[in-house]
Parts: sequence; C-alpha cells; structure tokens
Amino acid sequence: MAEQATLVIIKPDAIKRGMMGEVLSRLEPLHLEIIGAKAVRVSQALAEAHYQDLRQKPFFRELIDYLQGKLHGTSFVLALVFWGPDAIERVRQVAGATHPEQADPVSIRGALGRMTSAGVMENVLHASADPQEALREIALWFTPQELLRPVPTSRSGSIRIRSKAR
Ligand code: UDP
Ligand code: MG
Repeated sequence: MAEQATLVIIKPDAIKRGMMGEVLSRLEPLHLEIIGAKAVRVSQALAEAHYQDLRQKPFFRELIDYLQGKLHGTSFVLALVFWGPDAIERVRQVAGATHPEQADPVSIRGALGRMTSAGVMENVLHASADPQEALREIALWFTPQELLRPVPTSRSGSIRIRSKAR
C-alpha cells in the first residue's frame, strides 16, 4: 500500500447545510492523518484553476460559482489534505460517485448529496481522483509550509497556476 496525500474540499452546500462535521465523521474511520487544513475564500482564479480540465463543459460557469459559494451564499470552503495508505482511492470510495443520485447510499455523496429542484448538483465534497491530480491540486491549494509532511510538488506548471490563482 502506497502512502499518498489527497485533497478534500468540503464544498459550499455542505457548509450551508451544516454538514461539515458529518463529512469529517464519515472520513475519520479511514484513520488517515490530516496534514493540512484551512478555511479558504475561493477566488475565481483558484476555482477556475482547480477545475481547469472541465473548462469546455456546459456546466463550467455554474461549477465555478458553486465552488466560490455564490450558489449558496457562503464565504469559504474547508480544504484538507489527508495522508496515509492508499488515501486517494479510499477517500474517493467513501465520497461516492459524482452524481448524488447514482452514488452508493452509504457513501457521503449518496447519503448527503442531492440534486436541487433547479437541477444543480450538490455533491458535498471534492476528492482528488488520482495521484497526478492529487499532487497538482495540493500544490494549488497549499504551500509546502502549510503541510505537516512534505508532499512532492507536481509539474512546475502547478506552481505557475498557484501563483496566478492566489
Ligand atoms: N459536475 C456537474 N455536472 C456534471 C458533472 C460534474 O455539476 O455533469 C460538477 C460536480 O460538482 C463535480 C465537479 O463538477 O464534483 C467535477 O466533476 P468530476 O467529473 O471531476 O467529478 P468528481 O471528481 O468531483 O467526482
Ligand atoms: Mg474530478
């Protein structure tokens, strides 16, 4: 089992609906270390850099508004880095599938996520999908000084994105 770091973001719907603690409670049984945690007011540049691979999707603008809290009237998200054996896959497993109605009901998204009547997907949290994504995202959201363990920085590109986004 590889020791890995993975980025989790507790999204604005979870903040708005008072589910921060519930999300953490559901991640806690994984017994991973938290090596970084902070409240972040998400700039448009940070949101766009985070979801850069989805730029062409029809839901991109709404997704940026969602992460910034504009859909829920919230001013921050909670960003965390979890570290431990197979952290990326195990956190994704507990998080559940992207679409809350298709997610396993025992997963976080299956239990706590929803589609609103306006058709907005509220899926509670972000979790890095693979090692490359995890390294890019951690470098985007955290400086090395903010982490309790060294996490390898990804391609030099992420450094550029980070300084632009902040
Ligand atoms: N998303 C959406 N509509 C879609 C697909 C995705 O609004 O049809 C949003 C949703 O918030 C999701 C995020 O875009 O969490 C990123 O999409 P991705 O496919 O990377 O899903 P994830 O990795 O979050 O499971
Ligand atoms: Mg993704």
